Amino acid sequence: MRRKLAAGNWKMNGTTATLDQVKALTDAHPDPAVDILLCPPATLIAQMAWARGSHALQIGGQDCHAQDSGAHTGDISAAMLKDAGASHVILGHSERRADHAESDADVAAKAQAAHAAGLIAVICLGETLDQRDAGTALEVVTVQLRGSLPDGATAANTVIAYEPVWAIGTGRVPTVAQIAEVHGRLRVTLHDMMRDADGVRILYGGSVKAENAAEIFAVADVDGALVGGASLQAVDFAPIVAAL
Ligand code: 13P
Repeated sequence: MRRKLAAGNWKMNGTTATLDQVKALTDAHPDPAVDILLCPPATLIAQMAWARGSHALQIGGQDCHAQDSGAHTGDISAAMLKDAGASHVILGHSERRADHAESDADVAAKAQAAHAAGLIAVICLGETLDQRDAGTALEVVTVQLRGSLPDGATAANTVIAYEPVWAIGTGRVPTVAQIAEVHGRLRVTLHDMMRDADGVRILYGGSVKAENAAEIFAVADVDGALVGGASLQAVDFAPIVAAL
């Protein structure tokens, strides 16, 4: 049985003043039946780890470098994220693939570094609107998964997040049939690539809100969500956690 995961990606949002949301969220779910993960900017990881107290809230980074250390100004290694209090790291988000030209091979190398540092890699993939309209969405996500999943990936150290690019921050959400089709394809592909594929959690991400969460979570092979905008405020994120 896969444990559900409600993950929040704060992207480039949040300052120390925002950390009051951690208490609001943990107060709303003092003893959660699902895993809750918040991925703030790296500047807030250590303080968020302090702010959660003894709560089971998990904390993640939003990217890491493929190397452990060295002359890479501005970059952060997986070991540094772990040292700051992170247990997870989001990798290959479409915004990084677009803004920083990250390839599947880059994502796989980063995921390997994350695993080596003892972090759980949340590997993101998803098609653009052009690819969806061209009927190639399944092919695109299959190629991305094959290229982005490193050797040594297991159900314990890897989470997959399907995030159609056209659904991120747009209010547009695929139909439940479209989500089911992609998640089913990802599961089959995982089976082809690893032994414990049944245990890998596959999240859906893209305009998840309290209003549509229950419907999305009812879809087969949806093991939780990766939430952007609606994860910034506990008043929005807590009901999504509850819907799981
Ligand atoms: P939104 O929930 O704001 O659409 O963002 C989704 C996302 O990109 C999470 O990683």
